[in-house]
Amino acid sequence: MAVLAELARLVAFPTVSNRPVTALAAHMAERAEALGFRVERFDSPTEEGKTNIVASIGPAGTDGLVLSGHMDVVPTEGQPWTSDPFAVTERDGKLYGRGTADMKGFLAATMEALSRIPSSAYKRELVLVWTHDEEVGCVGSGHLAHSLEHAGRTLPEACLIGEPTDFQVLRMHPGHVGVGVDISGAAAHSSRPDLGINAIVGASKVVESLQELAKELEEETRLEAFLERPWVAFNVAKIRGGSAINIVPDSCRVELGYRPLPGMEATDVYERVAERLRSLDLGAATATADLIRVTPAMLTRDGTELAGLLEPHALPCDRPAASFATDGGNLAKVGAAPLIFGPGSITVAHQADEWIATADLIRAVDVIEDVVRTRCC
Ligand SMILES: [Zn+2]
Repeated sequence: MAVLAELARLVAFPTVSNRPVTALAAHMAERAEALGFRVERFDSPTEEGKTNIVASIGPAGTDGLVLSGHMDVVPTEGQPWTSDPFAVTERDGKLYGRGTADMKGFLAATMEALSRIPSSAYKRELVLVWTHDEEVGCVGSGHLAHSLEHAGRTLPEACLIGEPTDFQVLRMHPGHVGVGVDISGAAAHSSRPDLGINAIVGASKVVESLQELAKELEEETRLEAFLERPWVAFNVAKIRGGSAINIVPDSCRVELGYRPLPGMEATDVYERVAERLRSLDLGAATATADLIRVTPAMLTRDGTELAGLLEPHALPCDRPAASFATDGGNLAKVGAAPLIFGPGSITVAHQADEWIATADLIRAVDVIEDVVRTRCC
């Protein structure tokens, strides 16, 4: 089966997020070019060896379909793998290897499906969006959305993100925002604490105030019918301050993360953190907040045309919400109304001996071919 060989090729690129993705990106670009696609590369403005691929075929601007996936994978170090994670091995109807489920299986199935469709068949545009660094906060799609927005470009509304959902259609997920708080004081000899301003003592007041905010957020539930935990999860995660036991510390940094719910503006809670810091009495110390990273939440309305196209292929699900974030939140900023749907299970993703069922991979090829033909041909 050609799709098995292609998956083996993709898995053999060790595209862990802390390594370059360019070799795999070049491969994906070449394959698309060979099928008649127009290919663009969007290099990361901040990091070498990182690039997004956007490839399109069919009449431009005809609002056809986006198929999207990430090219990076999570690390394997320290995990008890039975076989080489970067060489696909088949045992008992399952294909083992890093990324088989999350989500090189979808990439391989897409390219195999498209190889069955002649380039002259497209009446509407099909756009492939292959991203880098999804696993470290949807960084690649963030850059891409920014570039497209800047150029006044939009993506087709129908947008399929092929993350492993066991063929369930999910239309929402929370985001993830990282915030740092720097508390500044003044150093002094520890024999004269009255001459200094202790930043760690200031930080303790900041942390207390942040915990009050966490409690407030727990009361502000929404989308209760769809989410298992329908409030903003908030976590004070890191603290660093002080340099020696005999010095009054002049600085301390606290870092926290929170998960905005579907439909929430990613930075709303950040604004509330900043507001709390402004009104907090820290004596002579000061505290200022900065955004470390922003992965937006996603909320696509029920009953889109793409949902209708996927329905005959989809398995029923209790809740149409993913617990994990995807590139969809960023792609939604440039016109897409993403749905998450793909082969493989999120429960085996990021684990040792990650796998996808051979039958599911083969089925994915047929499903993608059908969706593309119905929407674009
Ligand atoms: Zn993924």
